[in-house]
Amino acid sequence: MIKRRDFIKTSAALGVSTTAILSACNSGDKMLAANSKLLSQSSDAQEKLPLVISTWNNQAANQAAFDVIKNKGTAVDAVEVGVQIPEADPNDQSVGYGGRPDREGNVTLDACIMDSKGNYGAVTYLQHIKHPIAVARKVMDETPHVMLSGDGALQFALSQGFKKEELLTEKSKEDYKEWLKTSEYKPKVNIELHDTIGMIAIDGAGDISGACTTSGLAYKLPGRIGDSPIIGAGLFVDNEIGAATATGMGEAVLRSVGSFLIVELMRNGLSPADACKEAVMRIIQKQSYKDLQVGYLAVNKQGEYGAFAIQPGFVFALTTNEETKVIDAISYL
Ligand code: ASP
Repeated sequence: MIKRRDFIKTSAALGVSTTAILSACNSGDKMLAANSKLLSQSSDAQEKLPLVISTWNNQAANQAAFDVIKNKGTAVDAVEVGVQIPEADPNDQSVGYGGRPDREGNVTLDACIMDSKGNYGAVTYLQHIKHPIAVARKVMDETPHVMLSGDGALQFALSQGFKKEELLTEKSKEDYKEWLKTSEYKPKVNIELHDTIGMIAIDGAGDISGACTTSGLAYKLPGRIGDSPIIGAGLFVDNEIGAATATGMGEAVLRSVGSFLIVELMRNGLSPADACKEAVMRIIQKQSYKDLQVGYLAVNKQGEYGAFAIQPGFVFALTTNEETKVIDAISYL
């Protein structure tokens, strides 16, 4: 009898979506129909290590991270360097500098980092600092705590030599003024909740680390914190097993502790794509998902990776020694 793992490898070699096949085997017509059109999209595939993988089309970020690894750097250094690319990019309106503000016009940032030893650092509701991920790294390395928030996080950042800056760009200010005309809070799928970067790297020693950074949902209530800086929700790393990260509507990810769930499912033998799919199913079984986007991305210790989203449109970037490619995630809808 063909073993599950052999089946996955054979399917991957044939370029066939394992998740699509497994779903078609296990579920009703709806899933079969949903998945039959997805055969060219991501399934469990395996890459030679080292690798860097991240949510959305963040190729430059992946490349920066991979350069660190190529120069014998660690995975944790790689992800910290990598996610700083979108943090500094004014055109990326979901991360760092240029991020869309909350309802009162303030740009507030959330970020976290987790290393292969299980160390973790995070900042939430941080204002005026362009690179929240670097502050999260300092929280991890320099304090006895794992998370600092708001003014405390800002004071800590300043004490560590970070510079206070205006993060609201003209473009985000204009968009905000436009939004104020209706003040309707209905984040657009794949647009206003888009581009949070969750990045996972496996370095030359085979060690895994991850980072996640965002300005959160556009026009959120002041004080709102999403999944991205929360351990187990927006990111989780277990160096024995693998790692997972999330993007999309943070409230749904937080309620289901998505990234921790995915790593635990991988521990129990699920492939990364199947684990991501199960985490998505836990969300859609409990709430209305028509206007909801959540995308999960995971990689295991062997370099098998996979992703699954509620809505179409979620992509991720993968970088290895050979190339950087952007891959469509399989979606439920
Ligand atoms: N997950 C982020 C949040 O809820 C949003 C995003 O992925 O863009 O804050």
